[in-house]
Amino acid sequence: MTRTTPERPVDIEAMFPELAEYRRTSTRLHPRPGTPKPQESSVAGPFLWPADEPWPMCHAVHEKGRGDRLADVRLERRILDEAWRRDPHRGPSDEERETLAGLETGLHAPELRDTDPIPMLAGAQLFTRDVPGLTGPEGCDLLQVFWCPFEAHGPDQTMDVVLKWRRAREVADVLTEIPEPIVVGRAECVPNPCVLHPEEVVEHEWIELLSEDIQERIGAWEEDLMDAVAEGEEYELSYTGDLSIAPGWKVGGFARWGLTGPARIDCSCGASMRPLLTVSDEEWDWGSLTWVPLEDREVMDAMGASDPTGVYVGRGQMRIFTCPVDPTHPHRLNFQ
Ligand SMILES: [Zn+2]
Ligand SMILES: [Zn+2]
Repeated sequence: MTRTTPERPVDIEAMFPELAEYRRTSTRLHPRPGTPKPQESSVAGPFLWPADEPWPMCHAVHEKGRGDRLADVRLERRILDEAWRRDPHRGPSDEERETLAGLETGLHAPELRDTDPIPMLAGAQLFTRDVPGLTGPEGCDLLQVFWCPFEAHGPDQTMDVVLKWRRAREVADVLTEIPEPIVVGRAECVPNPCVLHPEEVVEHEWIELLSEDIQERIGAWEEDLMDAVAEGEEYELSYTGDLSIAPGWKVGGFARWGLTGPARIDCSCGASMRPLLTVSDEEWDWGSLTWVPLEDREVMDAMGASDPTGVYVGRGQMRIFTCPVDPTHPHRLNFQ
């Protein structure tokens, strides 16, 4: 099934033609739980990975034995998912609640030393045929995104991400036994396997990064709109919530800066970097439902419908920025 973002309720570029200079196309990935194949774009794989190539490992020195058992994270999610499907009002049975209460967090793999390498998790793989705006190094048509599921890297103590570009046709024997860590730092670092339904949408730059003149005029328009809403003549809308940047997992487009305000993300070569992949906790924001795809409108209230991947990092968003000049320059992460 495809996913269709409704047309924006207001043609903001017709009202403010200068916004054309602040327009980009992004691809909403619309991940939904499923059983993707290695030859398909997905969240959480399985990846199209050569059987004879070493799987990416985290070699950073940090605690690796304490957190949640990966098997428990999956068990808990399966129990909850089945329970809410079976009984949308009450959810898990007493017996199931007991099982869930018995799952512990803490030190699960005391034999793991801080210096031991651990396999990274499969985050997402994206074929360029599915994501029109995705371009990598010459000839590469598949991007694979891995992360270490411990928020323990770098000065900001975040997850660590590895990007791998490859030529899909060069993968002959596909790895079937995907290595995985026994323990993850936090359950919300673990993505559920999802199939993708990529869809291109138009975005406009974050409000604080527009020229002051446009910011003021959009602000005035929003104030007039609020007056009309108070009179019962219009529906509530906002530039930030409904008209500029799409929520959810996506490739390209613009970054939201609601938590910290805009930050410059520069490459070591001096170029201003762009968001490659946004990893998001929610596919739609409950404050502005205009982004809910038409196909999801009937099921949007179901348990877990808005967070199909189960991932929650930072305050909800992890953005992987890459260099527009050379995609092989080191990426940078930003969290909101
Ligand atoms: Zn690590
Ligand atoms: Zn660069």
